[in-house]
Amino acid sequence: MSNIDLFSPLDLGFTTIKNRVLMGSMHTGLEEAKDGFNKLARFYAERAKGGVGLIVTGGIAPNFAGRVHPLSCQLSFPWQVKKHKIITDAVHEYDAKICMQILHTGRYAYHPLGVSASSTKSPISPFKSRALSRKGIKKTIYDFANSANLAKKSGYDGVELMGSEGYLINQFLTPKTNHRSDKYGGTLENRMRLALEIIRAVRKKVGTNFIIIFRVSMLDLVDEGMTFDEVITFSKKVQEEGVNIINTGIGWHEARIPTIATMVPRAAFTWITERVKKEISIPVITTNRINTAEDGHEIIKSGKADMISMARPFLADPNFVNKAKNNLSKEINTCIACNQACLDHVFENKIASCLVNPKACHESDFDTKSLQLKKLAIIGAGPAGISFAIEAASRGHDITIYEKGSLIGGQFNIAKEIPGKEEFRETIRYFLAQIQKYNIKLHLNTTVTKDLLNSDFDEYIFATGVKPRIPDIPGIENEKVISYPDLLLGKKIAGAKVAVIGAGGIGFDAAEFLAHNPEHEPSSLNIDAFFNEWGIDKDFKNAGAIKKKQTPISFREIYLLQRKKTKHGKNLGKTTGWIHRQSLKDKKISMLGELEYIKIDDKGLHYKQNDQVKVLDVDHIILCAGQFSDNVLYNEFLESTTKPCHLIGGAFESREIDAKRAIDQGVRLAAKI
Ligand code: FAD
Ligand code: NAP
Ligand code: SF4
Repeated sequence: MSNIDLFSPLDLGFTTIKNRVLMGSMHTGLEEAKDGFNKLARFYAERAKGGVGLIVTGGIAPNFAGRVHPLSCQLSFPWQVKKHKIITDAVHEYDAKICMQILHTGRYAYHPLGVSASSTKSPISPFKSRALSRKGIKKTIYDFANSANLAKKSGYDGVELMGSEGYLINQFLTPKTNHRSDKYGGTLENRMRLALEIIRAVRKKVGTNFIIIFRVSMLDLVDEGMTFDEVITFSKKVQEEGVNIINTGIGWHEARIPTIATMVPRAAFTWITERVKKEISIPVITTNRINTAEDGHEIIKSGKADMISMARPFLADPNFVNKAKNNLSKEINTCIACNQACLDHVFENKIASCLVNPKACHESDFDTKSLQLKKLAIIGAGPAGISFAIEAASRGHDITIYEKGSLIGGQFNIAKEIPGKEEFRETIRYFLAQIQKYNIKLHLNTTVTKDLLNSDFDEYIFATGVKPRIPDIPGIENEKVISYPDLLLGKKIAGAKVAVIGAGGIGFDAAEFLAHNPEHEPSSLNIDAFFNEWGIDKDFKNAGAIKKKQTPISFREIYLLQRKKTKHGKNLGKTTGWIHRQSLKDKKISMLGELEYIKIDDKGLHYKQNDQVKVLDVDHIILCAGQFSDNVLYNEFLESTTKPCHLIGGAFESREIDAKRAIDQGVRLAAKI
């Protein structure tokens, strides 16, 4: 263990970064939004104020072809410098540094003008790219250097050149996408030529006293990706060209391997940064699924990397670094890696935010002041009620929470039991720490009824959540039938052959729970098991570091059922739904659709499909058939009081309720009460 820790400065010779924490590049959607640069400046400044050493912006294209979308942000003209200065000035007020990421999407462009090493189409893009001509390559190199120069003029401390995740530079580096026969294709020397010429041109243009970070794709996780030897040779060349820091890139966007979602074990990819670091002498940053100060400390102290990069954790908590530094890490609002409000939003062309912190990227919505301090009662300690309570208490209101259960967290206590959703425990831990911090009065094991609710309060907030829907199927009272809370909270144990009614988020989660052998550690907590399950070659014997998957056999025979015709799990998250679908498919879970449930009896579940009546002779039938709002108490109380009452979370609307909406509604109500 070294004396260097997370808070030790990193000396680059001509400049020093005040600690070892980098806020990684994230596109937020503010880049293209109305008044977006002022909002971005506020967003970055809050993180700089919160103690982060170095920020890397979301990717900015060096030219039109390199844009993600036709309207994406580009820095190519001197008149654009002024708006970038708003950002750099705001960040520099807090003694933090900021680098602009230059990102050329190559064949990942969502427009028809995309270019690449060769004319190819990625499985995740609608358009085939055009192969860059030699003249086009020359112009692209010039555009990178021009953009870097303009970044310098804008006051950035440096640039990050995006060489990973399957974008243009990465496309030139691997035989998968580079089929050229000129000096930019074929041998490794030729395939890395574009990257090295870009670095050279950028360095020439910006001079020595300007940070250049290069993001190396250390694991491509696609077939025909780079070999380990190629990654090392390339990293050494990148260093020789005068790059100051190497950042780690993990997996192309088109790779069918999860790299950042919640079921990926924490710090699962630090080993590859460590292996590369041993071969080079410039500082190396590690990344992916680092979300706690403790892991960050361990990585730096054990010398596995010189810096850690966290991106989403800074959406979840802008004050991450200062809290960690002041021994308040239990107060960090941890990113649970759900992707629901960050990446999913960006892919839906919405402004990014954060499920556990709806203020992220919407900071100015919460500038309101409470004019009158009030005594407030909250009924229900689920995500909606607690989020309201914390925000209202932080504004000075006097808060009392009543919860009928023995724990806070509501349905998060069920969600955290799903293998791969262990991170949900962190939110409950954070909630508890905030309840203590603000001296919120908490009454557990207290079922509130209309008569029990005293009238001492100024206003009442009902966050009583949802109740599972019991479908109207003859025989539903049969003892084979188990509700999802009873199953997931361990009140009832399912047999070897099980049917799950309902293939929404909870049905998928229940199937994952049932498929898991409880005697084994979930792969989300065991890096080797995770790598075997998803086919990641940790020995890096194969190009792209992929190998044949060794999926664990399902612990039970499982049937996931729905009435509708559409694909199972169609409405799951945009960036994570495929993982849930693939995981169950690999475990050979049977997905049956277009069903009509007829009855349940001791033989099992009788259903009709394509006009044929069949019986699933299962031991148990798990109900995951949606929910309805638990708003009876609110309606009763409303009739007996003249005081303001508010209904939030699942109690307000059960359709498509998730924690993102529950927390958002709670925090936003507290900001205006
Ligand atoms: P709840 O969480 O239901 O909380 C309501 C609280 O009110 C409960 O604690 C209840 O005991 C209490 N209460 C009710 N009546 C009274 C009363 N009379 N007196 C006192 N207390 C009372 N969402 C996501 O966004 N992403 C996910 O990945 C995700 N996964 C999930 C996985 C599972 C298995 C489950 C079950 C849910 C999942 N959810 C997920 C959904 C999410 O947990 C809910 O949408 C969210 O918890 C709703 O919050 P809420 O505060 O409105 O209600
Ligand atoms: P859901 O997504 O609405 O799914 C409910 C399922 O029940 C549907 O598949 C529906 O399918 C079926 N169903 C509805 N009414 C039925 C009836 N009367 N009889 C039989 N089947 C019926 O709800 P959920 O799975 O309960 O999840 C609740 C919320 O939690 C969701 O909004 C979700 O966003 C959130 N959640 C999210 C995640 C995540 O990973 N992001 C995970 C878990 C939960 P058919 O109508 O086709 O049969
Ligand atoms: Fe993390 Fe989820 Fe917030 Fe994204 S939305 S930053 S993944 S907690």
